[in-house]
Amino acid sequence: MEFKNNILEQIGNTPLIKLNKINKGLKPKIFAKLESANPGGSVKDRIGLAMIEDAEKRGELKPGGTIIEATSGNTGIGLALTAAVKGYKCIFVVTDKVSQEKINYLKALGAEVIVVSRFVDPDDPEYYVNVAKRLHKEIPNSFFAYQYSNPSNPEMHYRTTGPELWRQTDGKITHFISSIGTGGTISGTGRFLKEKNPNIQVIAADPLGSIFKHYKETGELIKGTPYLVEGIGQDCLPANVHFQYIDKIYNISDKESFAAARKLTLEEGIFCGGSTGAIVNVALQVAKDCSEDDVIVFIVCDTGERYLSKMHNEEWLRQNRMLDPEIRVLRDLSDL
Ligand code: PMP
Repeated sequence: MEFKNNILEQIGNTPLIKLNKINKGLKPKIFAKLESANPGGSVKDRIGLAMIEDAEKRGELKPGGTIIEATSGNTGIGLALTAAVKGYKCIFVVTDKVSQEKINYLKALGAEVIVVSRFVDPDDPEYYVNVAKRLHKEIPNSFFAYQYSNPSNPEMHYRTTGPELWRQTDGKITHFISSIGTGGTISGTGRFLKEKNPNIQVIAADPLGSIFKHYKETGELIKGTPYLVEGIGQDCLPANVHFQYIDKIYNISDKESFAAARKLTLEEGIFCGGSTGAIVNVALQVAKDCSEDDVIVFIVCDTGERYLSKMHNEEWLRQNRMLDPEIRVLRDLSDL
């Protein structure tokens, strides 16, 4: 018989998928690292497992315990998946920006979900992270995963995502393109790849309105402005963003991100969300200056299914002026 002992053994070892159409006219090979193929449908299954198992080892998470997290949904799904197998309770604090699909998914996995306003500053007690911290203080036998500074997050990518990319490309990877939410994916994977070959370029997509690009280039912290892409960019600096492993950051607008995500879906059949769209946009821009010998790998952060009522819904796109003017958006992308 051939089987896995439980669903958690299905996490990681995701495939690389070669792009064949949307990169027409560009010289390098470009591969999608299909993190959407994880059992919970996102790159965050890896850290859900790691944060729980490391907390168990440290004795911070005990039988009957409750896991608390502030999440844009995917880390919650990753934690809830491991918690379902291991028998922990979960409480997640999300903002009202998070798609209903993700909230329903969290509830289907048995989690309690608290939705708070997205329009509060990080120093406000009602900021989603502060609400999670408060719950952790109030609830006995609880563990606050805190993906923004928990070292298990980048460490898991250093241990798994980085080595997978090195092995899958026979060490030929020249550019790694990702995003920055907590910073875990880019910091851990970037560190591993740079230790193998310091010439590998580690590049991030940052939504217009987020603070990372400006901070990297000037050292100055600005106030963020709202944007629609979920799961990436911030209005404060998480400890898990290790800028020393990031060579360059591009700002990408909502419109560009959604257009690129839709193009990746429509032409390559890789069904993804808006953060992946931002990353693909950057991958194609970077590829313009590359040669035939270059090998670009980008992260597919999650599946498009969790945005069917939002960025994969034409009515929602129209209401949010994301199709306006539609022709121009599509032309922008093929101009790259
Ligand atoms: N895309 C989506 C949809 C996410 O939810 C996240 C995590 N918040 C990311 C990208 C970024 O990953 P990381 O937290 O590892 O920087």
